[in-house]
Amino acid sequence: MAADDGDREILQAGDGKDRKESGLKKHDPLFRPLDRKQFRFSFWYFLLMLVGLFVLNTVLLKPRVEAVDYSDFKARIQAGEIGRVELGDKYVTGYSMTRAQLEAYEKARFDRNKPAAAPKTYRAVRPADPGLIALMDGKGVEYYAVAPQNNSWLGTLLSWVLPIVLMVVFWNYLSKKIGQPGQGVMSFGANKAKLVAEGDTGVTFEDVAGVDEAKAELVEVVDFLRNPKKYETVGGTIPKGVLLVGPPGTGKTLLAKAVAGEAKVPFFRISGAEFVEMFVGVGAARVRDLFKQAREKAPCLVFIDELDAIGKSRGFSLGGNDEREQTLNQLLVEMDGFDARSGVIILAATNRPEILDPALLRPGRFDRQVLVDRPDLKGRVDILKVHARKVKLDPSVDLETVARGTPGFTGADLANIVNEAALLAVRNGRCCVLPQDFDNAIERVVAGLEKKNRLLNPRERTIVAYHETGHALIAALTRGADPVHKISIIPRGIGALGYTIQLPTEDRFLLTEDELLGKIDVLLGGRASEQVFFDGVSTGASNDITRATDIARKMITDYGMSGKFANVVLPSQRSPLFMPEESVPSQREYSDSTQQYVDEEITRIIAERYARTVKLIEEKRATVDLIARRLLEVETIDEAEFKKLLGEANPPLPA
Ligand code: ADP
Ligand code: ZN
Ligand code: MG
Repeated sequence: MAADDGDREILQAGDGKDRKESGLKKHDPLFRPLDRKQFRFSFWYFLLMLVGLFVLNTVLLKPRVEAVDYSDFKARIQAGEIGRVELGDKYVTGYSMTRAQLEAYEKARFDRNKPAAAPKTYRAVRPADPGLIALMDGKGVEYYAVAPQNNSWLGTLLSWVLPIVLMVVFWNYLSKKIGQPGQGVMSFGANKAKLVAEGDTGVTFEDVAGVDEAKAELVEVVDFLRNPKKYETVGGTIPKGVLLVGPPGTGKTLLAKAVAGEAKVPFFRISGAEFVEMFVGVGAARVRDLFKQAREKAPCLVFIDELDAIGKSRGFSLGGNDEREQTLNQLLVEMDGFDARSGVIILAATNRPEILDPALLRPGRFDRQVLVDRPDLKGRVDILKVHARKVKLDPSVDLETVARGTPGFTGADLANIVNEAALLAVRNGRCCVLPQDFDNAIERVVAGLEKKNRLLNPRERTIVAYHETGHALIAALTRGADPVHKISIIPRGIGALGYTIQLPTEDRFLLTEDELLGKIDVLLGGRASEQVFFDGVSTGASNDITRATDIARKMITDYGMSGKFANVVLPSQRSPLFMPEESVPSQREYSDSTQQYVDEEITRIIAERYARTVKLIEEKRATVDLIARRLLEVETIDEAEFKKLLGEANPPLPA
């Protein structure tokens, strides 16, 4: 519940897995590298043919054989019904005709005037019977023996075909691993990005709801892709790279598809993980190839999903991942290598912006970041509407009620709920979805989410609302504090149950003592509000307090702003170069008595500011109440609405 001044909180670690995109794999007439599908196709065809031949041979071409008892077999020899015998090691097979008779029969076969009786074949299991040969000799039966052999077809299959099939499968697997199906294992470099032809994504902005801010940002990109000429004449530069940032399931991938669908330009899509393979240099080659293709197709859109897979900070991991690093470097080089006027726009998505290499975020690369956040109440209603289009709802279903029951849910969760509800309706043999189906669906989905994304109970929610309002109100009442941009009680990642964002009106390089104290006030405002309204405080403010204490300490030790040590720095040993500051406890270089003084000063400053904050909130009780209630209702309040509410409560600004 930090008074968040623009910096992002840690978003939930990614579930990494992408949901299947069925819309993307369509046949594309423009661009068909030798793709795996084709290869598979011929492979399956081959297998089918093999099976077909086998069946044909065994079933159709073999003469019909009558299985008989051995005694019967011998009786038939006695009776002269058998003219020729094959002595196998397991079976004896008797043919009704001798070789000469068979030849004559074959000749006469097509002669309509002389129809002959068809040859017959009998087979019996062969016991050890030494008398058989004598019997056959006596009857003048032709006989011959065949070398012991089990089923000849099966034998061939096992000894020849199976190894070949295995080899083909293995080859297929190997080329999948290396990424160049069709062209064999030796061409590692080429690209896996799928080019989806114009409009082929089938997704438009209509399908993405509840992320209006992100959509508004992307409209410009769409416009540029549609008519780059317009921008060329004016000469403005459009960002080359736009990074979509947000927790998993909020619709980043969907948004990228929508941009491509709206712009109707070629759309390359590749997932960060696909760049990185087992050989060093493959990823880099792929990046090079991807951009080469993209430039040829400009204007077009390149979408790198799950950018964090390659964009991880190169940081401190000693001996790290060479391959990933090379891939990342190549990506940076490529992004620098063309300017936006070449008409290639790169869109990327990540749910872990904090681990991205800072080099990626520098101007000229992904210099624009678009936050795709969990939807608020209205957003959830809109998303539910989008997905409810696909199912039949009973008129008694109120999607707003559903949205109210699902705070903190992402678009993917909501899509899931609509689907579950529909399934429940079908299971119960109903023709349309009833409100209780939604209730049950929410219960199911919540049970699955419990660990990942805890839901607040109503009392907790109320506390969070008053807490955040406290931050916001103090910010509004503090001279020089950054204006409130957004207040929200949508839980956000681990530990943040709500947030208040202040955006600075201008860049600040110097802060006065009053402004620092003001920052402390704003940070304490959350807890102060809890104290005023709930006669007690919660753990939710621990981050606020840490930050407030930190500012107070710096004021004394670094900025020389305290009475006794005015204009003196109390140095602590700096962290070693290249190490993140928090990882090494700083060591002070002053006496214990000074330390004691510092501690007392910090306590004094915080206590004073807290008392002031509590007093302010008590004075503005009605205002806080009004805003917090509204916040509980709509979950997010933006700058305009906040100002309006302040105006309604009409608080005179303190002198
Ligand atoms: P992300 O890439 O952010 O993890 P996806 O774009 O893959 O999330 O979203 C998964 C699915 O959830 C989408 O295909 C869509 O059905 C649904 N979804 C997510 N966000 C939204 C949204 N804002 N509007 C409509 N549907 C959404
Ligand atoms: Zn807070
Ligand atoms: Mg995604």
